[in-house]
Amino acid sequence: MMIIESTEEDVVEKVLERVEPEGEVVIQAPDGLKGLARELAEEVSRLEDVESVVLDAGRVFGACDVTLSLVSSADTLIHLGHYPVPSVDDALERIGVRTRVYVPTEGPPVEEWMLEELAEVLRYHGFEDVNLCATAQHVPHLARIERYLRERGVEVHVGKGDPERVPVEGLVLGCNVSCVKRDLPTVVVCSGSFHPAGVALTTREPVVQLDPTRGVLDPGDVEEVVRRMLTVRLSKTREAVDLEPEDVEVVGSTALGQVRPDVERALGGVSWRVRYLSEDVLRGVGADACVYCGCPRVPVDEAARFKRWLVLTPAELASAVEGSWDRYVLDSIPSPEHVTEALERWTRG
Ligand code: SF4
Repeated sequence: MMIIESTEEDVVEKVLERVEPEGEVVIQAPDGLKGLARELAEEVSRLEDVESVVLDAGRVFGACDVTLSLVSSADTLIHLGHYPVPSVDDALERIGVRTRVYVPTEGPPVEEWMLEELAEVLRYHGFEDVNLCATAQHVPHLARIERYLRERGVEVHVGKGDPERVPVEGLVLGCNVSCVKRDLPTVVVCSGSFHPAGVALTTREPVVQLDPTRGVLDPGDVEEVVRRMLTVRLSKTREAVDLEPEDVEVVGSTALGQVRPDVERALGGVSWRVRYLSEDVLRGVGADACVYCGCPRVPVDEAARFKRWLVLTPAELASAVEGSWDRYVLDSIPSPEHVTEALERWTRG
């Protein structure tokens, strides 16, 4: 397995310089990098040892998002945009994908004024000791941010996450915030609101967001996002309180890194599998309520699209059936034991 940290400008050059793709090659990239993936595919297909190149047209939200059908006969996988998920990489090795290359691409730069603003916000709140983490695009900025804050007297912790899921220090995933180790305020470097909200909901400590496309968000801004998210999720969870197992369709994922044997087993197995849960899929499944065992972000982040249905994460369903729906548990992979135990009790009646 090889990780090539790169910018969007030098992805193709770096991959061609450092990798020797062979046989059947599969290239994956999130939507924003599909053009680069095509460019890379054209170059790779000219190499002598390459027999064929297949581009994954799927949406590719992470290195978890690789299906068996896509790679069952592949010799090489080149994944753009994310760090590997170690347990998925191990599975790929076992099924014979000999060359596996992950090319996380660096996001927009963190400007000097953002660092000044970050230090100011921490000073204002009296945060002298903080966790620091980032999403994949922004992990390359962590060392500079850590140095900057340390030089201004802030104690900074960049934690190692769960080795099954998190390959580099300080990387936070939507389904796993295990790199945030201490009960301290956390600085999250990322765009969008899901990851800061996830860290806030998991740690119950203040979160400051540094968004390189917007600037610094105060803990109050993050709390407001969490409050809005909780309003929707708690009301959905409450709706599920009286559901019986026969009222709920269990939908699993086909993505190797989103198959969750623990919750699937606790729920008595999945009835359906799908790569992307969508309105069309829910219409086809024909159930009003479903528990989605794939990426935990989907029911939460896509809630607006699923208004007509009750789509819950396993952790939400567990809270509902245990009657503890007012204490929200953000779903994660791997699932906490109390979630699988609650689901098992419910399924067995
Ligand atoms: S399961 Fe979802 S949150 Fe976790 S790595 Fe995959 S896409 Fe990201």
